[in-house]
Amino acid sequence: MRVAVIGAGIAGLTVAAGLGADGHEVVVYERREEPGAVGAGLTLFGNAFDALDAIGLGDAVRRVSSDAIARMRSGQRRPSGDWLVSLPSAMVRTLRSLHRADLHRALAEALPAGSIRLGQSAALAVDGRAAVTVDGAEERFDLVIAADGLHSDTRTRLGLDRGVRYSGCTAWRGVTGSGVDLRGEVGETWGRGRIFGIVPLPDDRVYWFATESTAAAQHADDERTAVRERFGNWHEPILACIDATPPGAVLRHDIHDLARIPASFVKGRVVLVGDAAHGMTPNLGQGAGQAIEDAAMLTLLLRSGKPDEALSRYDELRRKRTRAVWRQSRLMGKVAQASHPIGAGIRDGLLRATPPAFMARATQSIQRWTGPQTLPGRVAPR
Ligand SMILES: Cc1cc2nc3c(=O)[nH]c(=O)nc-3n(C[C@H](O)[C@H](O)[C@H](O)COP(=O)(O)OP(=O)(O)OC[C@H]3O[C@@H](n4cnc5c(N)ncnc54)[C@H](O)[C@@H]3O)c2cc1C
Repeated sequence: MRVAVIGAGIAGLTVAAGLGADGHEVVVYERREEPGAVGAGLTLFGNAFDALDAIGLGDAVRRVSSDAIARMRSGQRRPSGDWLVSLPSAMVRTLRSLHRADLHRALAEALPAGSIRLGQSAALAVDGRAAVTVDGAEERFDLVIAADGLHSDTRTRLGLDRGVRYSGCTAWRGVTGSGVDLRGEVGETWGRGRIFGIVPLPDDRVYWFATESTAAAQHADDERTAVRERFGNWHEPILACIDATPPGAVLRHDIHDLARIPASFVKGRVVLVGDAAHGMTPNLGQGAGQAIEDAAMLTLLLRSGKPDEALSRYDELRRKRTRAVWRQSRLMGKVAQASHPIGAGIRDGLLRATPPAFMARATQSIQRWTGPQTLPGRVAPR
């Protein structure tokens, strides 16, 4: 098949690599002039790696990621440094961390040469046919995959957009310029309406993120100083992480998710993947993981050689799975970002009282990838 992919983010690159390896002719349109990623670090759970393995990409991503978190104490702390909860090893056993740019590079290297057209903004044909227009010229395909992110123009053109919602919280992200002594401890620190997270990267640098419940669209002249003012008196090594980050290298984005999951991920021969289909808050660390699951599922289903059946099955399976994760992520965000002292106190009390085995069980289904072969109505591999 001749396939257009709109967007070279994690979703677009993964599905393009999967379909390219299966012999489909894939053209990836990316409006940015430069390859690579905007963003700092990322964590991926075992479901993402199982999905990557199913389409032959797991080892390439493992090579650029680290499993250090699984060997460290991880969980939630108070700003004083007291541990609220240490996560059971079953919850973080499969967790790996990496730099976003390395993930993009590893996926792009798995694509057939010349597949990516940088600096080309693609628009779906107005009547929803499997055709895209770039700089006024139309190109036709057998399938168009919309991997154009949370604010997807394709989703709007298909009439499937139900709006984007501000989560009530803003996020800063940074990567230290050198190693920081983490003393074998990582995870999140929960204050009132504020969270700081620490993630070790493969090269000993540290990816950190910080969130605050606040009004949308606010910016500081110096975002690193803004983070320092809010989190600098929290437990170490938080200040050390902030200070080890080059000035000017701190990113700030307001967190949005889709107001509703679209009524369908598929219309004719156009299919939504990744944030375009199910943009979610980052609170479960599953946005990219679910984008990768979409890509693997679509690749595997299309091996049946019956594209229309494959697309309808994709829609059914992926909408059910991602709606559940999107909903839980939003709920987790509300709980974690509690800013009222009473709400934050109840949150901390519950966290302390919850048995670790129960927590592990609650997250098990989210971290499990189920491919089409093991689902009812299985599609035989080619
Ligand atoms: C603070 C934060 C932390 C996060 N942490 C994690 C985490 O630890 N783990 C995790 O799994 N997820 C995490 N996520 C979520 C994750 O980043 C996203 O779910 C994921 O990047 C979505 O990938 P995507 O390819 O669907 O979209 P995007 O990354 O948004 O890619 C879309 C691409 O399409 C391009 N594009 C758009 N329109 C067009 C057009 N018309 N023509 C051509 N190109 C176009 C864009 O330039 C872009 O490159 C986090 C998100 C945030 C905000």
